[in-house]
Amino acid sequence: MSFAQHYQETLEELARVCASCGRDPREVKVIAVSKTVDAPAISAAIAAGAHDFGENRPDVLAAKVAQLPEQTWHFIGTVQSRKIPEIVACASLCTRFAREHFAKFDQAAERLGKVQDILLEVNVSGEESKSGFTPDEAIHALQLAETFPHIAVRGLMTMAPQGNLDVARECFEGLAALRDALRSQLPSEQGARFNELSMGMSEDWREAVCAGATMVRIGRALFSDSFESVQA
Ligand SMILES: *Cc1c(COP(=O)(O)O)cnc(C)c1O
Repeated sequence: MSFAQHYQETLEELARVCASCGRDPREVKVIAVSKTVDAPAISAAIAAGAHDFGENRPDVLAAKVAQLPEQTWHFIGTVQSRKIPEIVACASLCTRFAREHFAKFDQAAERLGKVQDILLEVNVSGEESKSGFTPDEAIHALQLAETFPHIAVRGLMTMAPQGNLDVARECFEGLAALRDALRSQLPSEQGARFNELSMGMSEDWREAVCAGATMVRIGRALFSDSFESVQA
């Protein structure tokens, strides 16, 4: 199947999943995670209607943005400090960094005359192998981020443990509850823009949508012909 077919089926399934849990599919953005494919494959995805792409390596992101500048690019990789200016120059939304990166993001964004939208990655499940702030750290990270004028925290992101959809669902519900709790502690202006929940990948995006995801990050299920959903 082509990307176009995978994408169409995914959008149809998204509509069904949303109907089953009382959500509006227009509230959920599908980010096509294009980290494993080249620019011609992304051009085909654009022709099929995709606009939001996720990349996890700054150099690859920069090369693809140079070829396809009209799209919305999400940086979803882990951040290395020296790559921050490159990331900020290319990405409309970035996710995975530590407290010590905030100042550098702020400086890089100021230099480019932009405000960089970011999501805070939270390790909801507590798995040791996962990066991100603990739920307890998230409020402090958020308060610190809000002191920098050129970064805007738009919400939270997480990756669920793989292999058990019930565990994944709990993780996503935990992130949604944390977003609500943090939002209630923000001044109303910042709280109003602190909305996004980036959660759910090829295996578990359906659970994430019903838990309130506003963005799902789907790679293999869109770009790979060998991907078989565990639920298919
Ligand atoms: C690769 C990646 C995805 C997409 O994963 P699939 O399982 O291929 O859908 C989503 N989020 C992040 C952070 C990734 O690195």
